[in-house]
Amino acid sequence: MKKILSILLCAALAGGCVLTGCGSGESKTDGSAATGDEASKDGGKASAEAVSDPLEGVKATASTDKYRNVYQIFTQSFCDSNGDEIGDFQGIISKLDYLNDGDPNKGDDLGVDALWMTPITPSESYHKYSVENYYDVDADFGTLEDFDKLVEECHKRGINVIFDLVLNHISNKNPLFVEACEEVKKGKLDGKAEYFEFHEPDYYSADVNTIQVGDYVCEANFSPTMPEWNLTSEKTKEEFTRIAKFWLDRGVDGFRLDAVKYFDNKHTNGVEFQKWFVETCCGIKKDVYLVGEDWTNDLDIADMYESGIDSLFAFRFSQSSGDIIDTLSTANGASFAKKVASYEKKMSAANADYINAVFLSNHDQIRIANALESRGLEAEKFAANLYMLMPGNSFTYYGEEIGMKAPYTDSDKWYRLPMAFDSDSPKIRVDGAVAPEAPKYGGVKQQLEDRNSLLNHYRRLITAKLQNPLIARGRATGAQSFDDKEVGAYYIEKDGEKLLVIHNFNATAEKTLSITSDMIADAQVYADFLGSSEDNHLAIRDGKLTMPPYSSVIIGSKR
Ligand code: CA
Ligand code: CA
Ligand code: CA
Repeated sequence: MKKILSILLCAALAGGCVLTGCGSGESKTDGSAATGDEASKDGGKASAEAVSDPLEGVKATASTDKYRNVYQIFTQSFCDSNGDEIGDFQGIISKLDYLNDGDPNKGDDLGVDALWMTPITPSESYHKYSVENYYDVDADFGTLEDFDKLVEECHKRGINVIFDLVLNHISNKNPLFVEACEEVKKGKLDGKAEYFEFHEPDYYSADVNTIQVGDYVCEANFSPTMPEWNLTSEKTKEEFTRIAKFWLDRGVDGFRLDAVKYFDNKHTNGVEFQKWFVETCCGIKKDVYLVGEDWTNDLDIADMYESGIDSLFAFRFSQSSGDIIDTLSTANGASFAKKVASYEKKMSAANADYINAVFLSNHDQIRIANALESRGLEAEKFAANLYMLMPGNSFTYYGEEIGMKAPYTDSDKWYRLPMAFDSDSPKIRVDGAVAPEAPKYGGVKQQLEDRNSLLNHYRRLITAKLQNPLIARGRATGAQSFDDKEVGAYYIEKDGEKLLVIHNFNATAEKTLSITSDMIADAQVYADFLGSSEDNHLAIRDGKLTMPPYSSVIIGSKR
């Protein structure tokens, strides 16, 4: 974080003596925020008194556990190292210092500390979700040695690596499936066919998608080129154990499990299968982190948490149709805070150790900038506050931190265009497409230079989370009402420690709130996240806190 070079404090720092002019102010850059005690007692406007940045001077500590600010990249779209217009491992390595330089208290890096790459295993499809070989990497991205180097370079910087693992389906080009088909065509169902969902033609009801092989069918919900694994077969479980061990032994820290919603079928209990996989992975690597894509409703997600999996993506808060964007329209922050707390209660009842996985969008969804664009940069910053200040792990889709927008919305490829490190769009082709326009707010380079950029706002959020480990690790225990539905506030608590997170959902009006000792004793602003200017920091004065439009604060007891 850049330091504010000169901050004038128009109040006496000691003895309660009040100065009225600004000329005799004193520079204060030591990081101790001005508070109600030391600031003006004359009831003057907060705007007349500069407050030093509450983030300055507080130590940020790198995470060593599973609680992370995760960065998702669409592997082929991040950075191309050899000019073939396909992003690759060496390209990612060359940009790791942008993600995290290894020191949470220094540098021009974003500060994320886990990396989820979309599938890297060989596949004909550009997205690689149809796996042709589970034990290699796609030549488009490099070699296994390049991948090992990437893992090593990530670990040097304190970045965990999350491997995108597809266990629901396989590519119809995968040799194991090709061999199984040959056997099935000869009527042999007790060999390699047992790995997959081969059945008599009338086994499935008409609403289940299948592909025909000889006299039999194989379940294939996603595409005729993606037949599904038989998840109750012992043969499959042996194979999956080998696959998990192969990648965990190579140093990956966890798996993002694709399409877990489809683990359930006519004869497989998805929760039981996932429980087996969680236990298998923990047996190989004790502190492995698992996050699943269960793109469904809260009730099914709660069921799936009973498998013991660490995380499942909280889809209800994400996407242009989710709670975060929806609440920007209604400005009903009070209701948003209740949803945060009630989601927490529901999921922790299913798995007491669950870690929420919150995000705004991913590679399957229209970029969030498309939904926020008409509301302005302040709204993009505010949406970032809303998910990143929820307990659990945050997942930031590459380019979201610089406001990258999908130019069109008629195909997934537009949400997967190359990362803009500079003002020019890089030469990477995604399913044949190139980015037709330059990034609206500039690339990484331009935004690092602008103190009020979206990128610097994201950096600020991550710094605050590393300064206050409770945000990720605590539980949202309940909402706090301020008798104003446009204010959304909730507590985060753990082991007797307590923080209060407050958001002002009004896009144009500031809110003055009373912060009382029954909320937080000896309250102090630990961090503020402002929509327009990042320079006018907030402080509680005489029990009052004035929050600008689309701003958020973290409040705790005086340190
Ligand atoms: Ca390349
Ligand atoms: Ca750093
Ligand atoms: Ca399935």
